[in-house]
Amino acid sequence: MKRIAVLTSGGDAPGMNAATRAIVRKGYYHNMEVYGVYHGYSGLINGEIEKLGIGSVGDIIHRGGTVLYTARSEEFKTPEGQQKAVEQLKKHGIEGLIVIGGDGSFRGAQKLMEHGILTVGVPGTIDNDIPATDFTIGFDTAINTVIDAIDKIRDTATSHERTYIIEVMGRHAGDIALWSGLADGAESIIIPEAFFDMDEIIDRLKRGHKRGKKHSIIIVAEGVGSGVEFGNSIKEKTGFDTRVTVLGHIQRGGSPTAFDRVLASRLGAEAVDLLLKNEAGKMVGIKNNQIISLDINEALSQKHHVDLSLHQLASILAI
Ligand code: ADP
Repeated sequence: MKRIAVLTSGGDAPGMNAATRAIVRKGYYHNMEVYGVYHGYSGLINGEIEKLGIGSVGDIIHRGGTVLYTARSEEFKTPEGQQKAVEQLKKHGIEGLIVIGGDGSFRGAQKLMEHGILTVGVPGTIDNDIPATDFTIGFDTAINTVIDAIDKIRDTATSHERTYIIEVMGRHAGDIALWSGLADGAESIIIPEAFFDMDEIIDRLKRGHKRGKKHSIIIVAEGVGSGVEFGNSIKEKTGFDTRVTVLGHIQRGGSPTAFDRVLASRLGAEAVDLLLKNEAGKMVGIKNNQIISLDINEALSQKHHVDLSLHQLASILAI
């Protein structure tokens, strides 16, 4: 294979640039030409394709977001849209495509496989919700952003002796809430994957208050419901001075952590190796600190599981 391309798709995540850099540099190392597709599948349909030189990915390893931009494309979900995308790739003589994104983007990559384009998926999403990999690119940066924010909120929470409800991202997966809650000693962590008992949460708050706790932090994953509603309900049931902070898109940005940069570099390089061996229709991932690859269909048929033992541990430690 001589000519490959890379695109970023779906929600952006810190570390996508480090992955793009790794793909371009590893490709050139193996004497391939590497092209960048701008604006995800939408740009692919429209022919926003450019050759990326080795220098074009300089000075991006530390930057959040994606220099290739990202987009969501309804047109690409149609057979006509996919046909246009295939024609563009053929026009540029591109045989292999690496897609950095989430599970939706991987489904799109599988469609291109059906049209004879060799594709490999690199998991990039802050939600950590892709099955078959322990971590996705961007997750570590996101939880570090969250704990940085919670640490700051904690200062004001202590000063005013308040209870804070913090809503974090995660529509289907509670990983961000769970990891940041454990890392920040939250009193309660409410995630979609675990049953929660409001009375137990209230009891825990009251017990802490009686013991002289100056503040309490409760983390709510957005998939469970609105932080504001939780806040109102807790205020009503405890009478405590309660505030709500919705962290929102701040969780998506920022310079990637060392962990995410290293992960992105390893995964990007592995994706190129797979294309070199004509092993396509696969995603790359990390399991027990080993870089792995597996069939995308097999990966997508699995379910992502949050580590519930961490939820239990957080609950014990916040007693
Ligand atoms: P993510 O990759 O972060 O999960 P999305 O689910 O929004 O994000 O998917 C990104 C893009 O991938 C979509 O806008 C669409 O163009 C493409 N895509 C998603 N699902 C499919 C599918 N089943 N078939 C073809 N393309 C898809």
